[in-house]
Amino acid sequence: MNELELTGRARTHIVDLDRPRCALHYAAATSFLAMRDAAAGAGIDLAAASSFRDFDRQLHIWNAKWTGERPLLDRQGQPLVAASLDEAARIDAILCWSALPGGSRHHWGTDCDLIDAAALPEGYRVQLVPEEYAPGGVFGRLTAWLDENMARFGFHRPYASAGCGAGVEPWHVSYWPVAHDALEALTLPVLRRAVAGSAMLGKEQVLERLPEIYTRFVLAVDSPRANSGRASSRLA
Ligand SMILES: [Zn+2]
Repeated sequence: MNELELTGRARTHIVDLDRPRCALHYAAATSFLAMRDAAAGAGIDLAAASSFRDFDRQLHIWNAKWTGERPLLDRQGQPLVAASLDEAARIDAILCWSALPGGSRHHWGTDCDLIDAAALPEGYRVQLVPEEYAPGGVFGRLTAWLDENMARFGFHRPYASAGCGAGVEPWHVSYWPVAHDALEALTLPVLRRAVAGSAMLGKEQVLERLPEIYTRFVLAVDSPRANSGRASSRLA
C-alpha cells in the first residue's frame, strides 16, 4: 500500500463486494469469502457491519465528537460534555472509542467489524458492544466459531485484550498477511503528514502528542499469536 492508501486518502487498494456488501483490500477479499463460506456451513451468515472506511469519513466522526455533535463517551460508556473538557481530555475521550483519522486499520481494507446476519432477531439494531459477543449474547456463536476457525483464513483480533489504548473489540477482525505489512509501513512521519494536511479539529494538540498517540493507539495491538488461547498483553 502506498502512503495515501495506508491513511485512507485513496481507495485504489479496495474492491467492493456485493454479497456480503462490503469493501475490502483486494488481497483480503478471497480469504474473507472463503471464511464466509465455511461459516455458512455452520449456519452463520458472516457479514460486515463496517469494512473499509476512508480518511474523510473518519475525520467527520472525529470532528463531530470534538464539537459535541456526536455523543462523547468515557471509558465506562458514560456521556461526557465536550465543551467542558480541555483539548487534551477531549482527544483522550475521542480516542477511547474512535481511531485517529489516518491511523484507523479500517483504512487498509484488511479489517472489518463482523456480525452474524442469521442470528439477528427481527428489527434488532446492532450496537457492537461486548455483551453481544459474549456467551449467550446474540453473536455468542459467532465468537466461538471465529475463535475456532478464523486463524486458518489469516484473520485475528487486533483488539482482543485490554491494553492501554482502544477498548476491547471482539467484533473487529484483521487479515494479518496484509495488515502486518501495513502496520510496518504506517510510520510516524506517514501519519504526521496525513494529520498535518487535514482539517482536523484540535490538530495542533494532536500533532504535539502524535508520538504518544501513535504508540498507544496504532502500535499497541494484539499479534495473531496472542489470539490463540490466552489473551496476552498488547505492546506497551
Ligand atoms: Zn472496527
